[in-house]
Parts: sequence; structure tokens; C-alpha cells
Amino acid sequence: MAGRVIDGKAIAADVRKQVASDVAALKSAHGLTPGLAVVLVGEDPASQVYVRNKGKQTIECGMQSFEHRLPEETSEADILALVQQLNNDPAVNGILVQLPLPKHVDSNKILNTILPDKDVDGFHPANVGRLSIGERALVPCTPVGSVILAKTVQENLSGLNAVVIGRSNIVGKPVAQLLLKENCTVTIAHSRTRNIGKVVKEADLVIAAVGVPEMVRGNWIKPGAIVIDVGINRVPGENGKSKLVGDCNYEECARVAGAITPVPGGVGPMTIACLLKNTVEATKMQNNITS
Ligand code: NDP
Repeated sequence: MAGRVIDGKAIAADVRKQVASDVAALKSAHGLTPGLAVVLVGEDPASQVYVRNKGKQTIECGMQSFEHRLPEETSEADILALVQQLNNDPAVNGILVQLPLPKHVDSNKILNTILPDKDVDGFHPANVGRLSIGERALVPCTPVGSVILAKTVQENLSGLNAVVIGRSNIVGKPVAQLLLKENCTVTIAHSRTRNIGKVVKEADLVIAAVGVPEMVRGNWIKPGAIVIDVGINRVPGENGKSKLVGDCNYEECARVAGAITPVPGGVGPMTIACLLKNTVEATKMQNNITS
């Protein structure tokens, strides 16, 4: 029997609805309108689409959206100056610098200049540290979205064996921290893991963030497990067109899993929704609002 399909699109819409209601509450109780600034350097077509969608959804949730589009040849010093200006702007509660940045720019230097309390991508070392020691933090969006999706299947993840495949700073490591916080027993697998199929087979919850198309096979999955596929890989499809696939072989894994996210339509839509959620959280952090 095929497992339940986790509808990321619908769940992301629910998250955005909650964000809109939190924004309305911030306005009425505190007179605050959260603002999100997005910085885009260069003409990368995929980044342009992301930035457009982020701006549109920010406004739909009742927040202010500030877009800064800079030409490809903008100097590192000028980008740093813009980030400083946004750090100092009280109308801006969240700052996102769209990656990848052009090659002549040191991305880490730019990201580390964003004030930690405005770092809605959660990449600043201060937020990484806060997450790891259990303090209030801004947490990277895709990991947060992945855990929300898992919790729509099973609200209490405590005690589950979770295997995260991938150990990047953007997905693998933060998702492992979040699962630890949920009281899962967490294993992180990576390219040097021996017998990876056997390791994954122990998991009640699998989070695949590898970047290798359809690497996770059906016979790696424990019957009934929850499978969250973070991977987005473009591969050749039919009629010379390309298509998107995840890091899991969907057909095989769906036959064994208890619940699984599709690609597209799983984790992908959650990322922007969680960015908006982080902007609300950043606004609260900056104004010492605890609830
Ligand atoms: P990275 O390339 O930064 O990290 C990939 C990780 O997978 C590494 O830790 C690597 O191990 C591990 N890995 C690579 N090959 C293997 C293998 N054969 N066996 C086991 N482990 C392997 O990728 P990201 O974390 O940035 O992204 C992962 C995937 O998630 C990509 O498909 C990306 O497109 C997608 N993604 C999706 C997002 C969304 O919004 N849905 C957002 C961000 C990413 P090692 O460390 O040993 O090299």
C-alpha cells in the first residue's frame, strides 16, 4: 500500500495563514509591522524568481517588503555598506541576501555582517550557536519547514530514530539540531558513511538532503517510516525537457514509507513560508516579545 503523500503546498499555505494572523496581532497589540529586506546581486534567473515570490508573499502576509536589486559588478564594499544600512533601519526586521553571490564577493563576510537578530536565513554563527545550545534563535528555513512537515504526520517525534542524510550547514546540521530538540535519536549520514542503506533502514524518520538524484532506494526505507525529501535535482525528462526529482526514488520509497513528501510540492514551498515566519520571530526578538 502506498504511503500518505505530505502536501507541502497546502501546509505552507497554513503556515502563511498563521504568519498573517501573527502579523495582524503584532500590529494591533504593539503597533509593529514586520519588514523584510531582500538583497539580490546580479541576474541569476532562478534567484530572480525566488526574490519575486518572496516579495509577493511578504506583502500578502501584511508585512513590508523592501527589495534591493544590485548589478552583478557591485563591489563587496558596496554590498557591505547596504547591509549595514539595513542593520540600522528600524523598519527592517529581517535581512536576506540571496545566494549565490557573484564570485568576486566573499559570501561569508556579507552574511556575517547581518545583525544576528535580523538574520532570517539563520546562517550567522551567532544563530548557529544559539540553536546548538538551545537558546532562542533564528533557524534556517528549509530545516524548520522539514520538521513542520514531519510533525503533520506525527505531532510528537520524541524517541524516534531519525536519520539525516547530508551534513551541510544549510540543511543537514540544523535539521539534526532541530530533531535533537524534538527528542529524536539522531544519526547524521554523509558521503563517508559505510553501509548507508542499512543505516537508513533503522530510521523511523528519514530526512534526505544530499543533492544526488533519487539516491535513496525503496529497500533502504523501514516500512511505515516518515520520509522528508529535501533534494531538488533537475534531470533530463521525456521529450528533451528537464524535470525535478528529489534525493529519494519517489515511486520505490512511497511504496514502503508511512508518509512521504513529493518533489516538487513537498519541502520546497515550506522554505519561503518559514522565511516569513522567521521575519515575525525576528520582529518579536527585537522587541522583547516572548509569545
Ligand atoms: P550540499 O551539497 O551542501 O551537501 C550535501 C550533503 O550530502 C553533504 O553533507 C555530503 O556529504 C552528502 N552527500 C553527498 N553525496 C552523498 C552520497 N553519495 N552519500 C551520502 N551522502 C552524500 O547540499 P545542501 O545541503 O545545500 O542541499 C542538499 C539538497 O537539498 C540539494 O538537492 C538541494 O538542492 C536541496 N535544497 C533544497 C532546498 C529547498 O528549499 N527545498 C533548500 C536547500 C537545499 P559530505 O559532507 O561528506 O560531502
